Amino acid sequence: MSVEREQQLAVALAEVRARLAGAAAAAGRAVDEIELLAVTKFFPADDVVALHRLGCHAFGESRDQEASRKVAEVAALIGSADIRWHMVGRIQRNKARSVAQWAHVAHSVDSLKLVHALDRAAAEALDHGLRTVPLDVFAQVSLDGDESRGGVDVDATARIDELCAAMEQAPGLRFAGLMAIPPIGADPDSAFARLQQEHQRVQSKYPQRLELSAGMSGDLEAAVKHGSTCVRVGTALLGSRPLTSPAVTPVTRSPQTTESLGSTDKTESSSPHKG
Ligand SMILES: *Cc1c(COP(=O)(O)O)cnc(C)c1O
Repeated sequence: MSVEREQQLAVALAEVRARLAGAAAAAGRAVDEIELLAVTKFFPADDVVALHRLGCHAFGESRDQEASRKVAEVAALIGSADIRWHMVGRIQRNKARSVAQWAHVAHSVDSLKLVHALDRAAAEALDHGLRTVPLDVFAQVSLDGDESRGGVDVDATARIDELCAAMEQAPGLRFAGLMAIPPIGADPDSAFARLQQEHQRVQSKYPQRLELSAGMSGDLEAAVKHGSTCVRVGTALLGSRPLTSPAVTPVTRSPQTTESLGSTDKTESSSPHKG
């Protein structure tokens, strides 16, 4: 890990924290009720270690294979006691077992079949001592109704209720709240306003406080304005991701390239789009 890279991460983290503080203040909210999730997909374990040293304890990944390897690398370097790993990408059902072995939280759960696969996988991991607590799960909603990009249509309230109830009842899972990614080109303010309305509707049915996973590098202010309790920030912290998935060693930084919209690993899909 170079000194320059550590410096770069420290500056970027301070900027993101300042943006969060500003957004919270503008919304009349306490900044400490909003979790900053550092999305480290495509970036190496060294960057996780550096961000951890700077005070980050929550990290997001979007591809199972890359994540399970990185989680092990980070654990070997600094242990795993005070780190929580979040799976923010789409989850193939055949990856549920692996995800349940490294993730504390899964943000992109959008079908009953996936709920059941994750529940079974988490129960098995608990049985085998591979995890000690249930898997926290977010129900992903789609704000434009295009469910092919992930999430249950925000207007399909009966199906959202059914999904949330299944999570709430699954012994291997803990229903944590709602998550969404605004559609490409959408106005974040109106997209997150709609999400907040749905979050409040679902919240009224549950006694526990439900979280809202919303906001990325480009739109975290709008998300905080509309009640986000967890912003998922990649680019603004770590820099641009490479265009294609690195086969073995993630590229630390490649400012010339643009966002990857998907994974080259055909068995998984990655982030639907840039924020
Ligand atoms: C990659 C990703 C992010 C981070 O996006 P940035 O625009 O780089 O901050 C957030 N959420 C999900 C679901 C992602 O896949």
